[in-house]
Amino acid sequence: MNAVLDAILAGASGEELAAVPIPETYRAAVVRKDQAGMFEGLPSADKDPRKSLHVEEVAVPELAPDEAYVAVMASAINFNTVWTSIFEPMPTFQFLQRLGRESVWGRRHDRPYHVVGSDGAGVVLRVGSAVRLWKPGDRVVIHCNHVDDQDPSAHDDSMLAANQRIWGFETNFGGLADLTVVKANQLMPKPAHLTWEEAACNALCNSTAYRMLVGRNGAQMKQGDVVLVWGASGGLGGYAVQYVLNGGGTPVGVVSSPAKADLLRSLGCEAVIDRRAAGYRFWSDEHTQDPDEWRRFGKDIRALVGEDPNIVFEHPGRQTMGASVFVCARGGTVVTCAATTGYQIEYDNRHLWMKLKSIKSSHFANYKEAWEANRLLAQGRIQPVLSTTFPLEQVGEAAYQVHRNRHEGKIAVRCLAPADGLGIDDLALRERIGESRIGRFRSRAGGDT
Ligand code: NAP
Repeated sequence: MNAVLDAILAGASGEELAAVPIPETYRAAVVRKDQAGMFEGLPSADKDPRKSLHVEEVAVPELAPDEAYVAVMASAINFNTVWTSIFEPMPTFQFLQRLGRESVWGRRHDRPYHVVGSDGAGVVLRVGSAVRLWKPGDRVVIHCNHVDDQDPSAHDDSMLAANQRIWGFETNFGGLADLTVVKANQLMPKPAHLTWEEAACNALCNSTAYRMLVGRNGAQMKQGDVVLVWGASGGLGGYAVQYVLNGGGTPVGVVSSPAKADLLRSLGCEAVIDRRAAGYRFWSDEHTQDPDEWRRFGKDIRALVGEDPNIVFEHPGRQTMGASVFVCARGGTVVTCAATTGYQIEYDNRHLWMKLKSIKSSHFANYKEAWEANRLLAQGRIQPVLSTTFPLEQVGEAAYQVHRNRHEGKIAVRCLAPADGLGIDDLALRERIGESRIGRFRSRAGGDT
């Protein structure tokens, strides 16, 4: 990939890039099928992505007519890479096998290794014969909704498509690599004022938060809504808080340290709860929840904003869902996209039906929603929540940090980009938005640069 990188850094035109040969192999972060049982019997917390994620050369797959090769300048860690690397709740090779049975092109994905990663920013190198809107040289970000658009079920909301998959999690050839193969309908223009790593960290979490709160498929937040955001300085939460503020709502952010609370306040979120300092014990033991603790949490929210949350932005799952359903306002919505702390959920159904609350499920975003969320980034109305960047060789450490909840916002991974800070095309826009806003999460957290 050296020739490709040299050409990109030299500002090669699309025609020049199209003439640079595609190598036979590329560097990628993988988990191996023969290691899928390596953590059997260990508790989740002891399963270590640094042991299971490897950076190695893998073969470049053939390009299908509706796909593009993208030189990946930077990617990011998402929690799904943590799941893949600890082989929970199941090894992702099962997804690849199923995709492999689906079609001739799907067969390429079923390999003894899984190239992981569901975010990326880079440069288009080649497009397949059926690709119409993209060409070599285009600077892009990649969203992770992998959909077969020949399936009729994909043509209302593509997240409802029968064979909808998450790229780099349920498909192979993900973004934590120097090169990736994606469907052309995963491409979006790179926000011109951002660096490669700032551009690479958004699409998955930003689009997910957009659908959950703003798009017509989620909770459809309106002006004046109070929105309780769990993990409000994390990957999803950092975008959710911005959407609430942009949309005229009142965010109540929950975090677990004074430093995270400060970060949230600097973002404009005035109502902050430090769950660790408050010491909530929603579960008195493994099997029993404590409604008094739900009540205490609800009172703390009312003390801050004077009312109950119209929307609860849920993703921790088992540890918090009972409390989320309880504190949600009469007629309100708990919108959930995940269950980091356990997916067997328990809540008191009386609080749901008697007060006419709803639980709304949400998963990533369709192309239109991802495009809208990316457009808001490109306009400078939503900021990246990048805190730290690791080089690809340290991808295991980067995933470990997220697994152990030691990070804020997003951790990016430099793939081809030789240093941080490259890739800005619109310096004037960057200056108008301001470094302090764009780099808010970075300036608070550490980093390797
Ligand atoms: P993240 O960056 O790790 O943030 C999660 C936050 O959750 C942490 O910052 C932490 O904040 C909070 N948290 C952890 N344990 C908690 C607990 N016991 N109680 C309350 N809060 C807790 O991860 P993320 O990227 O935001 O993703 C969160 C989850 O959503 C993951 O499971 C991920 O797989 C999933 N996800 C799903 C989709 C989808 O499309 N379905 C998309 C993106 C992510 P504090 O410690 O500060 O409270």
